[in-house]
Amino acid sequence: MLSLKGKDILHGNQFSKREIEEIMKAAAYLEKEMKRKDSLNLLKGKILATLFFEPSTRTRLSFETAMQRLGGGVISMASPESSSAAKGETVADTARTVSQYADVIVIRHPRIGSAKEAADAAPIPVINAGDGAGQHPTQALLDIFTIRRELGSLKNLAVSMVGDLKNGRTVHALVELLSLFQARLYFVSPLELRMPEAITFSLKQKGIEIEETEDLPKAASKSDLIYMTRIQKERFEDLSGYERVKGHYVIDENFIAGLKNKIIIMHPLPRVDEISQKVDDYPGAAYFRQVRNGVYVRMALLAMLLGKRV
Ligand code: ASP
Repeated sequence: MLSLKGKDILHGNQFSKREIEEIMKAAAYLEKEMKRKDSLNLLKGKILATLFFEPSTRTRLSFETAMQRLGGGVISMASPESSSAAKGETVADTARTVSQYADVIVIRHPRIGSAKEAADAAPIPVINAGDGAGQHPTQALLDIFTIRRELGSLKNLAVSMVGDLKNGRTVHALVELLSLFQARLYFVSPLELRMPEAITFSLKQKGIEIEETEDLPKAASKSDLIYMTRIQKERFEDLSGYERVKGHYVIDENFIAGLKNKIIIMHPLPRVDEISQKVDDYPGAAYFRQVRNGVYVRMALLAMLLGKRV
């Protein structure tokens, strides 16, 4: 068994295939345990601190749920405006301070690299829950867990990633994990929201097959999975840029009716208008199952970072 004890979770590229397997195994085990019991005592007496400098529903609540289901406690910064960040405290100082109270920190912040700054300053494990348009590694892990669950395997995958590939931190992290499984990738986006070149370059260096296109139906016809993303409005400097690209790709009942192949649809959520609610009953619509899987994967991570055998 590999040990993640004491480690930080900062970037999708930090994991080996074996580590991913271990995390998936632990998550599946915890899922099974949770079907038998409401909560476990694995992290009794441990405290998780959640520091969210950007909005969140799922990530913060699922980490808090995960910690409480494991018997641990949670402290939370109510909002950036009511914390000392509003007085100009650095992320590093906040993290160093919070590490005097907690055993593990989960941080989300609008600036790329901020989670790493927190990790460098804090002597306890720090988990990046999204650093601006950078990375979101725990989302990628729960995505991988979901893909395997939905499709049965991670072998010979063809994946269409759709939407705001420039600013979407979930896809930036997920491609790192998928590259370990040699997935074929279709990057479907408007021209101005293409996947950053540094990422496509490094994927190509690893021998990953990539096709960049604006044509969603064509990419979908060759894919096992569509990973839809929201246009990240908050990353646009001016609103007119956002207005130009919003609503570019929409999955609705007509799109589903036109599918020739069986396909899974995932989305990190929140959705705005890119997946119609009418698609929610389509059996391949996996986005709410993805949400539930997030709790088990985050339980596994918390337990492993704090040195528990699962
Ligand atoms: N919830 C995800 C994130 O925080 C996806 C999104 O916001 O579009 O990155």
